Amino acid sequence: MRPAGIPQPESFVSDSIPVRPPDIDEVLLETMYLSIDPAMRSWMSGPIAPGQVMRGGGIARVLQSRSALFQPGELVQARLGWQTYPTVPAKYLQKVDEARGDALAWIGPLGLSAITAYFGMRDIGSVKPGDRVLVSAAAGGVGQIAAQIARIEACQVAGIAGGAEKCGWLAELQLDAAIDYKAENDLAAAIGRACSDGIDLYFDNVGGPILDAALLHLREGARVVLCGRISQVATDQPYGIRNLGQLLTKRARMQGFQVFRYHDRYEEARAWLAARHREGRLQQRLHILKGLGTAPTALGMLFRGDNSGKLVVQVKV
Ligand code: NAP
Repeated sequence: MRPAGIPQPESFVSDSIPVRPPDIDEVLLETMYLSIDPAMRSWMSGPIAPGQVMRGGGIARVLQSRSALFQPGELVQARLGWQTYPTVPAKYLQKVDEARGDALAWIGPLGLSAITAYFGMRDIGSVKPGDRVLVSAAAGGVGQIAAQIARIEACQVAGIAGGAEKCGWLAELQLDAAIDYKAENDLAAAIGRACSDGIDLYFDNVGGPILDAALLHLREGARVVLCGRISQVATDQPYGIRNLGQLLTKRARMQGFQVFRYHDRYEEARAWLAARHREGRLQQRLHILKGLGTAPTALGMLFRGDNSGKLVVQVKV
């Protein structure tokens, strides 16, 4: 059923049906890991009709193949859906290069959240050395990579996250400052203390009042990257941004983007991310739940901040 507010397990039903052997140019897969993403909540209010298999991407192993392109045992990346044994047209699969990283690396530092951070920071944010950067949901899947990219690019980096544990993780990532927004009565003042010279680049994953507070600290010519607005997705009381005038007076730019528009350049992003990961300069903390049955609960966790790192469901390994 379509959800109201934060998705609940009751929005889903599980079903068992016979595995479908592959037709010509199809492949039977065993799902290993599913990525759990905030966008899934929006899909449940739009493109996915009640009763359809829940969409979801991840990493799988080829069990049977009727395509010359894939052999049993190979790892692939695909839109698998929340299923253990999907049968998928071979043309929708991408091979996983295991020399570059194992299945978990391909869902973590080489996965779509990391690729989102790469294009958001570099193409939209035009990150450059010396920038004063602020990232929201900085301990999350996209945010932790965005913050580390800024650090690798020799920026001063502050992160916003909910709770002391997540802020501790940001310190381990060697960010210059961490703001626990849940512990602050006056977030704008807290951002002012953490970013005392202002913000050249704000990478926003959450929207709402946190975006509004960050706008107050923009420097001349700042860039605001609208990556996500998770605080506004599952609410029927949207927050009205009050501080847009700051864009005018600071001659700043605010721009959104959708990572799938960069599909032709994913390989460029992966090569960059893989190199930094190999050098030990880029980490991705994963929050792994075990069993396909955890997926319905997992989705709601993103909207409560119950995930510590990129949220993944391990189906079979
Ligand atoms: P994530 O950051 O791992 O998890 C979501 C986090 O958002 C939570 O852990 C929570 O962290 C924070 N949050 C939830 N509700 C909040 C609220 N009301 N106010 C402030 N923070 C809140 O998720 P992700 O997969 O990496 O996605 C992060 C953002 O990127 C999402 O907005 C997503 O839609 C967006 N995204 C965009 C693209 C694109 O193409 N533009 C692609 C992928 C993802 P705290 O505990 O710190 O509050």
